[in-house]
Amino acid sequence: MERGTPAADDPQPAPFLIGGVPQAPLAFLPEPVRLFQARARRFAFLAETNELAPYLSFLAELSRLQARLAATLPPVTPVAPARNTGTAAMPPIDRLARVGDAELAATLDTLSAGAAELAMPEPARIALAAVCAAHEDDRHWLLGNVLGDRIPEDSPAPHLFAAAAVQIHFARLAATLDAAALAPIHVGLCPACGGRPVSSSVMGTQGIENVRYAACACCATQWNEVRVKCLCCGSTAGMSYRSVEVSEATVKAEACRECRSWIKIFYQAKNPSLDPVADDVGSLGLDILMQETDFSRRGFNPYLVGY
Ligand SMILES: [Zn+2]
Ligand SMILES: [Zn+2]
Repeated sequence: MERGTPAADDPQPAPFLIGGVPQAPLAFLPEPVRLFQARARRFAFLAETNELAPYLSFLAELSRLQARLAATLPPVTPVAPARNTGTAAMPPIDRLARVGDAELAATLDTLSAGAAELAMPEPARIALAAVCAAHEDDRHWLLGNVLGDRIPEDSPAPHLFAAAAVQIHFARLAATLDAAALAPIHVGLCPACGGRPVSSSVMGTQGIENVRYAACACCATQWNEVRVKCLCCGSTAGMSYRSVEVSEATVKAEACRECRSWIKIFYQAKNPSLDPVADDVGSLGLDILMQETDFSRRGFNPYLVGY
């Protein structure tokens, strides 16, 4: 394995990309059923060759369950029109206000019951039993941590199930929004829910080729971000790219010298099957490589806590 190779071949943005791309939509809202179906397929594919195979297979099953629930749960109450403070745009979905959301609680109930049917490692089964038996206060603690982008390192397993429920519910909420009515909130923050990115992707789809979109770890909305720009502090100076592969890397660590953070960037233009969440777990080798540096991981992925 080649380690720490700064990828000098990272493409620089074409001049027309600098400062943003007016013709590229700000955001793509998720289609929840298709999203989780595609993610399940990707996890299953990655499990075929990856040393984390048992875990990836479990996440494939969990994603399949998410797709099924996204299709069969009662419809969510549509999100009210965007709030506006008068000073700055606010995301229409107020994540932290939804810890006690009854529809979210019902989603977690149904997911926990469905997950009991899945094959999983014993620690996960014990955690699932604990989630099923948890009182409302404890469930609110789990959901509050996930919605606050903080997973205690000593209890990743119960948070994994809470996060899976959050992903279903917030993708369904985001799907009720009007993408054209969204406004940028801040660099590195989801315009739909204010969430943090799990990763970003350079697109290969016709019309948005080579445009970068960040993927929300909470609601799965994808939003446009200028390339070669830190998704944590917004700096455009001192960005560098590292990858495990020496050439033709489809995933790189985008590292910022200013705030010493890094986040994965996927090149869907090279492989359209890449999934912002599944391939984040499937590229753990890059995390191991970056752990040898003094950069801190900033991509938020509850499926990777504890690894
Ligand atoms: Zn979001
Ligand atoms: Zn930075």
